[in-house]
Amino acid sequence: MENRKNPNIRCTVGQCRHNLCTENFCTLDQVRIGTHEAEPSVPECVDCISFEKRTSC
Ligand code: SF4
Repeated sequence: MENRKNPNIRCTVGQCRHNLCTENFCTLDQVRIGTHEAEPSVPECVDCISFEKRTSC
């Protein structure tokens, strides 16, 4: 189980199992970013595709 924050990746998605939800940081060494849009134009168009749903925080 990861529990060390990566100070280079801030994230507030507490529903992700990789999130250190007490500090709003990711615990992975790196993350993959993608998009669900054909022509992304605003921040809402892009996603962290390293997301994995957690069962508890
Ligand atoms: S994997 Fe992505 S969504 Fe999950 S904590 Fe890290 S940056 Fe956030």
